[in-house]
Amino acid sequence: MIETLLLNVLFLLMPVLLAVMFFENQLTKTNKYLLIFLSSVTLVFCMAFPFNLEMGAIFDLRYIPFIIVALFGGYRTVFPLYLVLNCYRFFIGGEGIYQSLVFSTIILIVVPYLNRWFMGKSAKGRVLYAVVVTFLVMACYFFTLSFKYSNLTGEFLPLTVYALVIHIIVTSVIMSLIEKVIANVKTRELYLRSERLRDISDLSASIAHEIRNPLTVTNGFLQLLQGSKTITAEEKSYIEFSLKELERAELIVSDFLTFSKPQSANMVYANFKDEITYVENIMRPYANLNQVDIQVRFTNSLMKRYDKNQMQQCFINLFKNGIEAMADNGGALSIDVAEHKKNIMIKISDCGVGMTREEIVQLGKPYYSTKKEGTGLGMLMVYSTIGNVKGKIDVKSVVGKGTTFLITIPV
Ligand code: ADP
Ligand code: MG
Repeated sequence: MIETLLLNVLFLLMPVLLAVMFFENQLTKTNKYLLIFLSSVTLVFCMAFPFNLEMGAIFDLRYIPFIIVALFGGYRTVFPLYLVLNCYRFFIGGEGIYQSLVFSTIILIVVPYLNRWFMGKSAKGRVLYAVVVTFLVMACYFFTLSFKYSNLTGEFLPLTVYALVIHIIVTSVIMSLIEKVIANVKTRELYLRSERLRDISDLSASIAHEIRNPLTVTNGFLQLLQGSKTITAEEKSYIEFSLKELERAELIVSDFLTFSKPQSANMVYANFKDEITYVENIMRPYANLNQVDIQVRFTNSLMKRYDKNQMQQCFINLFKNGIEAMADNGGALSIDVAEHKKNIMIKISDCGVGMTREEIVQLGKPYYSTKKEGTGLGMLMVYSTIGNVKGKIDVKSVVGKGTTFLITIPV
């Protein structure tokens, strides 16, 4: 019995292990299909090596990969597994084929429905809920089966308990491993991000400063020239273009300047109220222009030390992105600053275009932008500023629905 158990655990571990070894960091489309394929292989193996109990009853762990894939991936991802499961079941033959078909169809309908809700849970929550779902599914399974074996209830009960316990143990082990892998990937992303920021902040401050002065001087002279009465209208338009481009260059440079270390002259000990209000006021015209309504809720009383200018710029970038995401149809940009157990929680939600998972991972990479006029420096600055106050940023986004940035700053 223990041999079968170990063998099955090995099958279930196989996709997890291979994923860790080969494509942990790039969950591309191909890798996703590979993962689905590997899970199907696991499922077939689980069915091919079932638990044979003394009393002649048989059960296997096929529903564990099925449920885990359904919870993590939703309908489209688990459908191939559903096909594989039933094809293989038909191939094995014997009685109970149709019961199996009906039962797996019910699971196919019910479990992936929980996908959204499941993905919104914390790592521990997901382990717990996956175990609960597996338990409930298997409990239903044995419950329906019990009608068939009603004449041998005395033996059926221990079998059920035994099978349920195995399912619970195996699911919790596999789920804990999967969650550990996910946590490791996240930590590494965070680490890479902070490495990137350090390099940039060292370089940018010095370079940006040097470039800013010549830019200002050029800007001044061009403006003088524009006032001249002896140049033609065409020449004036050239100057106008040059000024526009200079303005853009200045924007990029000032974006870079804000990556530098916090400056002691700007440090305040405050609760973010002033910065939020300030940014709300200066962004209002831009929001109106895009039919966006800014709604602020402020209930935070916790204080934190931070660089005032950087924090303002950080909120400007976040507000601006939110407004730009809703530029097509307008909408509401809601900001909620609250406190929760010694943490300042700043939530910025828009109902704009949203992002895919791949796009969220790209956030904060220098020059990553999907906009025609974008610099791709805004989010980099946001990450650097929030990093300076030891905060963390969670991004939740649904394509076409909107995006929520949740910033947690410990005090
Ligand atoms: P930029 O705004 O100049 O493009 P950012 O660093 O501010 O650069 O943002 C990088 C990219 O992240 C944007 O081009 C956009 O694709 C995406 N993004 C940022 N915030 C949002 C948001 N609230 N909704 C949708 N996409 C966003
Ligand atoms: Mg931006």
